[in-house]
Amino acid sequence: MDREAVPGAPPAAGEAAGEDAGQEAGGDARRRIARTDALLAEPRLALAAGRLGRGIVKAAIGAAQRRARSGEIPPDAVADAAVAALPPTASGLRPVINATGVLLHTNLGRAPLSDAARDAAAMASGPTDVELDLETGRRARRGRSVLDALLERVPKAEAAHVVNNGAAVLVLAATALARDREIVISRGEMVEIGDGFRIPELLAATGARLREVGTTNRTTPADYAEAIGDETGFILKVHPSNFRVTGFTRGADVSELAGLGVPVVADIGSGLLAPEPLLPDEPDAASMLKAGAGLVTASGDKLLGGPQCGIALGREDLVRRLARHPIARALRVGKTTLAALEATLRGPATPTALALHADPEALRGRAERLAARLRDAGVDARPVASEAAVGGGGAPGVVLPSAAVSLPEPYAARLRLGAPAVMGRVDGGRCLLDLRAVPPGDDDEIVRAVRLVR
Ligand SMILES: *Cc1c(COP(=O)(O)O)cnc(C)c1O
Repeated sequence: MDREAVPGAPPAAGEAAGEDAGQEAGGDARRRIARTDALLAEPRLALAAGRLGRGIVKAAIGAAQRRARSGEIPPDAVADAAVAALPPTASGLRPVINATGVLLHTNLGRAPLSDAARDAAAMASGPTDVELDLETGRRARRGRSVLDALLERVPKAEAAHVVNNGAAVLVLAATALARDREIVISRGEMVEIGDGFRIPELLAATGARLREVGTTNRTTPADYAEAIGDETGFILKVHPSNFRVTGFTRGADVSELAGLGVPVVADIGSGLLAPEPLLPDEPDAASMLKAGAGLVTASGDKLLGGPQCGIALGREDLVRRLARHPIARALRVGKTTLAALEATLRGPATPTALALHADPEALRGRAERLAARLRDAGVDARPVASEAAVGGGGAPGVVLPSAAVSLPEPYAARLRLGAPAVMGRVDGGRCLLDLRAVPPGDDDEIVRAVRLVR
C-alpha cells in the first residue's frame, strides 16, 4: 500500500522509490526518481496543490512515480507526468464533449448550461442576496427574481415555484393536492422515466391513491368524467416523453378535461415554455395553461436548456399550496441553481436551443473541415451524414438531420479516456463524432483530442 496515503505519517526515507521498485527498474534509475516532498515543492505542482488540494496532487505524483519505477517513463519525467495527470478541477467529474448526437444525454448530465448561466452560477456560489432585500436589509422571498423571470416568459401563469427536479414537483403536487385522495390518470400514461423510476410508483409513495382510467392505447374524456368524485385530488396528464404509441389510439386533451371541475395537472417533462415549431408534438407550458391546465410541471434541464430543477407554473392557489407545504422545504433548490435558471430564462439562446436549430448544411461543412484537418494529421477520418435526436428529454421519434466525422472504431474508447473526453457513438463498425450537440467552438478541441490519441 501507498504509505503516503496514511494521514499524518512522517515521510519515510526513500519513500518515493517504494520497496519493490528495484525489481522493475535499475537501482540507479530508482534513486533518481524525485521524492514526493521535493515534487510537491515544484512550482507547477505547488500551485496545483493550492488550487486542487494536496491530496489530489499527491495522488498524481504517486501515480507518476510508480510509472517511473516500472520503467514506463524516465525518472526525470515524473514532474511533467504528474502535471499532465492533474484533473481539471478538484471534482472527480470530467468534462466531456458530447458527440453522441443525443442533445439531452442523461448520462452526460442532460442540458449543458449557457455561458450566461455558468457565469450566474459562479457569481451565486459566493454570498448573494438570494433571500435578502438589499434596500431594506431585511429577509426577502427566496429566488423572487427567477420566479418573475418565469412569469415574464409564461404570462398565462399566475404563479411559479421551483424545486430540485421534475420528479420532485410531481411528488410535491401529489402530496400537497392529493394526499389521501385520488389522482386520476390514464393507463396510457403510467410511464417509467428511466433507470427504473416509474411515475405511478413515485406518486403512490406520497400517500396519494392512483385512479387508473382507460387502456394503454385509448382513454376518452368520458373515462375521466366517470372516475371523478369527492375523492379526486386532481387529474394528471403525463407526457409520454420517451416513447410513442401509434395506430388505434385516443387520448384526452387537457382542453377536454379542464371543464370537469377538478384541477388538471399537466406534466410536460421537457420544459418548453412556448410552442417549438421544430417539435410540433412536444407540449409546452403556455399552450397547456391556455388549454385549461391548473398546473404545469416540467424539468429545467431538458429542452428548457437550464440547470437540473423542477418547475411548477399555473394557478396562484395551486402553486401556493405547493410552495407552502412542509415538504417544499425538503425539495428547496440551491442558490446556484436559481441563478443559472434565471440566466437561462433571461439570457441568450441556450446551447440546447442552438443545437436543436443548427443548420444541417453548416454541420456538414464543419464535418468536412474537421475530417480534412484530421486526415492532414494522418487519421482515417471522413465526413458522413448522421441522424441526431433530442434524447431522454423528449420528442421521441424525431430525427434531426446531422453530420458526423467517421473514425476507425478503436477511437471510440480512446477518445472517451482522453482529456477532454470525447463521447461519440459506434455505428456500423465506425466511431461517429456527431456534431449537432457540439458547440462550433469545440471543433478545435476535437482535433486536439483525436490527434492526442492517434
Ligand atoms: C423527465 C420527466 C420527468 C422527471 O423529471 P426529472 O427532472 O428527470 O426529475 C417527469 N415526467 C416527465 C414527463 C418527464 O419527461
